[in-house]
Amino acid sequence: MNWENTITYCTRCKSTIYWDDSGSPQLLQLGNTNVFTCMEAGCRLISMEVPSRCCEMEELDLIRLGLQNIGIDEQDARMLAVKLSRTFAAA
Ligand SMILES: [Zn+2]
Repeated sequence: MNWENTITYCTRCKSTIYWDDSGSPQLLQLGNTNVFTCMEAGCRLISMEVPSRCCEMEELDLIRLGLQNIGIDEQDARMLAVKLSRTFAAA
């Protein structure tokens, strides 16, 4: 599968993975609800593409809005956008 520069989010357990520009997974958030269902049935993923480099504050806001648009609640979207920007800062 081709997940470069993508965020995947499980709508069931909320596990969130950022796939960097080489397609390597980096865990942004560990699933904390319904994990046993996911272990049995697999995660139910939604995904969004992200830039390979970021983030100015405006870009961060766009990413947060994008995450909300695909169905992530505002609190999670805000937290994930911040974690993503830290991932970029550390790279
Ligand atoms: Zn899951």
